[in-house]
Amino acid sequence: MRVLVVEDDDRVAAALRAALSRHEMEVERVSHGLAVLPHLPGTDVVLLDLGLPDVDGLEVCRRIREAGDVPVIVVSARGSVDERILGLHHGADDYLVKPYDVGELVARIHAVRRRRGNGTPAASDPVTELGAGVVLDRARHTLTVDGGDVALSRKEFAVLALLADAGGAVCTRDRLVAEVWGRRWPGADRTLDVHVATLRTKLGRPGMVATVRGVGYRLAAGSGA
Ligand code: CA
Repeated sequence: MRVLVVEDDDRVAAALRAALSRHEMEVERVSHGLAVLPHLPGTDVVLLDLGLPDVDGLEVCRRIREAGDVPVIVVSARGSVDERILGLHHGADDYLVKPYDVGELVARIHAVRRRRGNGTPAASDPVTELGAGVVLDRARHTLTVDGGDVALSRKEFAVLALLADAGGAVCTRDRLVAEVWGRRWPGADRTLDVHVATLRTKLGRPGMVATVRGVGYRLAAGSGA
């Protein structure tokens, strides 16, 4: 897998190159936003720093999205909720705040790639283990928790399946509402929250569907209790 690292800080870029190489990723690095587009062909995932010397990272993100569908993970020291929303609205697939755990970064890289349908297609596998004892079966349309079937409404199932497909990456509220309900209306956010609350209760693992404040939700695998 080839990862394009857009980062002006030599030290950060070198550390990233070393870390990602250990996970069998081929790293290419550019330090300026304007240098990104020529490097996109053959790139599987872009890691994009927002603070660049020439063009703002969000503008770079928008241009990458215009040029094609290479997944983009924004990696930035800017951590406010507003920045995250902006990043996701500019077409980023996910957002990580510095300093971050390399293991988490690697997991997110694989997740955004799966979601774009390039890597191992998680969605084609009808059975997904969401966490210890929790299994989602798309073919049978069932959720099993600790060996017992749990009844979900169609909407609850759709929300959970979208989160599962994202493989731990954040799903924005807009995306969840658009894909599950097909439209937006004034009470959409509240309805989504109610469905997530019910899901958490039915999962019996409140931490499994994690809130990304101001952005959306994501599955937190492993946080079973
Ligand atoms: Ca920077």
